[in-house]
Amino acid sequence: MSKILVFGHKNPDTDAIASAISFSYLQNALGKETEAVALGEVSEETAYALEYFGMEAPRVIETAANETNTVYLVDHNEAQQSVSDIHDVEIASVVDHHRIANIDTANPLYYRAEPVGCTATIVLKIFKENNIAIPKNIAGIMLSAIVSDTLLFKSPTSTQEDESAARELADIAEVELEVYGLDMLKAGTNMGDKTAEELIDMDAKSFPMGDKNVRIAQINVVDVEDVFSKQAQLEKAIQQTNLANHYDLFVLVVTNILDSDSVILAIGNPIAAVEEAFNVKLDSNKAVLKGVVSRKKQVVPQLTEALTK
Ligand code: MN
Ligand code: MN
Repeated sequence: MSKILVFGHKNPDTDAIASAISFSYLQNALGKETEAVALGEVSEETAYALEYFGMEAPRVIETAANETNTVYLVDHNEAQQSVSDIHDVEIASVVDHHRIANIDTANPLYYRAEPVGCTATIVLKIFKENNIAIPKNIAGIMLSAIVSDTLLFKSPTSTQEDESAARELADIAEVELEVYGLDMLKAGTNMGDKTAEELIDMDAKSFPMGDKNVRIAQINVVDVEDVFSKQAQLEKAIQQTNLANHYDLFVLVVTNILDSDSVILAIGNPIAAVEEAFNVKLDSNKAVLKGVVSRKKQVVPQLTEALTK
């Protein structure tokens, strides 16, 4: 039988990569034959973490059915965020911490979902349940995922379990959690050499909301103004991608990881839903969202509600 492929969502973040690597390692230790792969190139933040712990980025795949009939999903479940031919393979397992939508399977499966801040936190529990020791480098990449998803525990998605998991993993990986964590987050905020097209696609996800197709991109920075110095180019790139991909609405969330606020740039329809969702008035298509750092908890539910009533 061909290897089972393990992967996170498209436009992979550190959790999508780290959870695929660690869950694949765990399943192999339990006797399965799996390989961690990725649905895109790794970000600079993830590259920093992989290099720090001496690991290679997983191979990038475009389709799965050409090489396997079975896949394990981590850090996502929605079909439009998964591999393009997800309907041609069997999903035998999902480990995730997102809303459940658009997933249907022909057969029974393992489904592990918990409302914690990071998939790697759940993967750590599965390691413990199975009494499998975690190698130093795997622990390092897992704690990187927790730091990334929770913005060093400042995100409202972060739970006590995420923080204890990260501390436990930091002990195994032998790193100073706060120091390493901030260095890794900062490595992901280097926007200087990115084009507008790259900026709006780096960490973008699609969500069906009511009868609208909504695209939400997020960029973590230490200087929000620096990104908006390219506002005209960003708007042009967003209009083009909206047209090309039939997105009704595009919301770019630019998050300052140091002060934990975001500025959004919204282009498309209905703009009134954006203003209603966040109780703001857009000015030049922009609005400040105080205290907003989490797409999953502070952007997607509010927009979904505004678009589905
Ligand atoms: Mn993710
Ligand atoms: Mn995640």
